[in-house]
Amino acid sequence: MTYEMPKLPYATDALEPVISQETINFHYGKHLQTYVSNLNKLVVGTEFEGKTLEQIVESAPDGAVFNNAGQVLNHTLYFLQFDPKPIKNHPTGKLADAIKRDFGGLDNLKQEMNQAAIALFGSGWVWLAVDAKGKLHITKEPNGGNPLRNKMKPLLGIDVWEHAYYIDYQNKRAEHVEKIWEIIDWSVVESRM
Ligand code: MN
Repeated sequence: MTYEMPKLPYATDALEPVISQETINFHYGKHLQTYVSNLNKLVVGTEFEGKTLEQIVESAPDGAVFNNAGQVLNHTLYFLQFDPKPIKNHPTGKLADAIKRDFGGLDNLKQEMNQAAIALFGSGWVWLAVDAKGKLHITKEPNGGNPLRNKMKPLLGIDVWEHAYYIDYQNKRAEHVEKIWEIIDWSVVESRM
């Protein structure tokens, strides 16, 4: 089994001005490509060869295999959740109900995720995740972490590594995470429930 780059469902300049073409070229074209290439090399001859990304992220010990598999999975979920003109710009149905129940509404969810993204020290991810009972959680993960590690399903991820925003926003992480909501395609997020 070979791990592959996700195919972007939009042009590299389509997410501007929220995410520039230059950022996509580096973030998708260089950073993600490196994680994919590293993972394909690292698994050879190990117990992880032939396993899915999810299986590796759930079971690999901390270290290079986990870091690279986590980042391939994280970035695949990340890049596929965007759309320059989202079919759905807000959640509906079961997900909307759960957001209302667990956070009091979409605005509160956004605010809490933005706060978590600003508060996360160093490199990492903020996720909206759902547990086995259907309850939603916001998780802060260092480095290449993913909620699957804690038996929760990732629904929506905000990358707060500097490589995700530094070209476009420099040190202003808060401004970047505020903007990211404009390009979230909620139909993709709902499909992950
Ligand atoms: Mn990244």
